Amino acid sequence: MKVQRLTILGATGSIGVSTLDVVARHPERFEVVALTGHRRLDVLAEQCRRFRPRHAVVGSSDDAGRLKAMLADIGTEVLAGPEALCRVASLPEVDAVMAAIVGAAGLPPTLAAATAGKRVLLANKEALVMAGGVFMNAVKTAGATLLPIDSEHNAVFQSLPADFSGDLARHGVRRILLTASGGPFRNTPAAELAKVTPEQACAHPNWVMGRKISVDSATMMNKGLEVIEARWLFDATPDQIDVVIHPQSVIHSLVQYVDGSVLAQLGNPDMRTPIAHALAYPERIDAGVAPLDLFQVGQLNFERPDLERFPCLALAYRALRAGGNAPAVLNAANEIAVEAFLDGRLAFQRIAVVIAATLDAVPVAPAADLAAVLAADAAAREVARVFLPQ
Ligand code: NDP
Ligand code: MG
Repeated sequence: MKVQRLTILGATGSIGVSTLDVVARHPERFEVVALTGHRRLDVLAEQCRRFRPRHAVVGSSDDAGRLKAMLADIGTEVLAGPEALCRVASLPEVDAVMAAIVGAAGLPPTLAAATAGKRVLLANKEALVMAGGVFMNAVKTAGATLLPIDSEHNAVFQSLPADFSGDLARHGVRRILLTASGGPFRNTPAAELAKVTPEQACAHPNWVMGRKISVDSATMMNKGLEVIEARWLFDATPDQIDVVIHPQSVIHSLVQYVDGSVLAQLGNPDMRTPIAHALAYPERIDAGVAPLDLFQVGQLNFERPDLERFPCLALAYRALRAGGNAPAVLNAANEIAVEAFLDGRLAFQRIAVVIAATLDAVPVAPAADLAAVLAADAAAREVARVFLPQ
C-alpha cells in the first residue's frame, strides 16, 4: 500500500480535528506533510507535536513567531498568510489535500490544490459556491480528483454508479434529494425567530460543527449552499436538486433513478464517516464511528422545507438560477450577515434580508476567472455592510 501524504487546510477546526482522528487510526496509510490553522495556536501546536508535519501555516507573521517558539524543539517549518496556504496545498510531495478552511478564505488554497492536480477532499463548500465553473475547469484541466466531504454530497457520490461520468441523464438519474435536518429552529414559530441568540443557533440537534456552518444550518442557508455545491459536483440543473427535511440525520442524501429506484447512504451523523470514505477511496477503512442501530433510530421522518420561515434556501436557488457571479455575491453577503449575527449586531431574521438586498444591489456579471470571482466577493461584502444596522 502506498502511503498517502496529506496537507490538511483548517486542521484546527471541527473537520480538521475529525480528519486527524481518522488519520491517527491508520498510521501505516497516511503521512501528514502540512497542517494549517488560523488563530487557535495551542491546538495547532499540539497537532504538530503529535503528527510532526514538515510545514505549519498560521494567519499572521506574529502568530508564526509565537508558534515557532512553541515548536522550537521539533523541526516543523512555520509559515504565515494566504500565499503559504496555497504553497502547502500544492507541494509536489503532497498527494491529497483536505480543504477544511471555513468560508471564502478557503477558495485560493483549495483552487491551488485542484490546479496542482491533487486529490482534493472538499469540505469547504464556499469555494465551489463562489467559483464553481472556475473550480471544475481547474479540476478537469489538471486531472485532479474531487471527493466530497460534505455528508450530503458524499452520500450522493456513494449512491451514484461507480463509473459516474458527470452525465446524470446517461446514468438514468432523475433527481438528487439532499436531506436537511432542519436545524435547531425547525419547529420554532416565525415570531420567535426574531429573538434567537447565537448560542441557540449554534446548538445543532444532530451535528457538532464550527460556528459559521452552525448558523448556516439554523437559517438553512447551509442547504442552499449545498444545492449550489451539488449543481457543480454532479453537473445537475437546479430542477434536478430537491431538499427534503429529515430530522433524524440518518439518511445523508438520496439519488432517484428513472426506473423508480432510490439509492441512499445512511449512517450515524458523524463526519468521520465521509472523511474516512474520501481518505481511503475507493477502499474502506475504520472511521471510529459506532455502527448504525436502526432499532434505536426507530423512525425516519420527512417534511417539506418551509421557505417562508427559511427564506435563505429560496435565495440560494435564486442565485443559482441567476448564474455568473450571483452565487459568489450570495456567499459573501451571507458571510457578512452571519458574522454580524454572531457578534450580536444583527437579528437572526435579518440575515436573509441583508442577503436579498445585496443580491438586488449587485448586478449579475460573468465569473469567468478567479479575479472576477474575488472582485464580486469584495463588492458584495461592501454592499452587504451597508445593509447592517449602523
Ligand atoms: P471551523 O470553524 O470549526 O474551522 C475552520 C478552520 O478554518 C479552522 O482551522 C480555522 O482556524 C480556519 N480558518 C478560519 N478562518 C481562516 C482564514 N481566514 N484563513 C485560514 N484559515 C482560516 O469550521 P468547520 O470545520 O465546521 O468547517 C470547515 C468547512 O467545512 C466549512 O466550509 C464548512 O462549511 C464545511 N463543512 C463542515 C462540516 C462540519 O460538520 N463541521 C460539515 C460539512 C461541511 P482557527 O480555528 O485556528 O482560527
Ligand atoms: Mg452538509
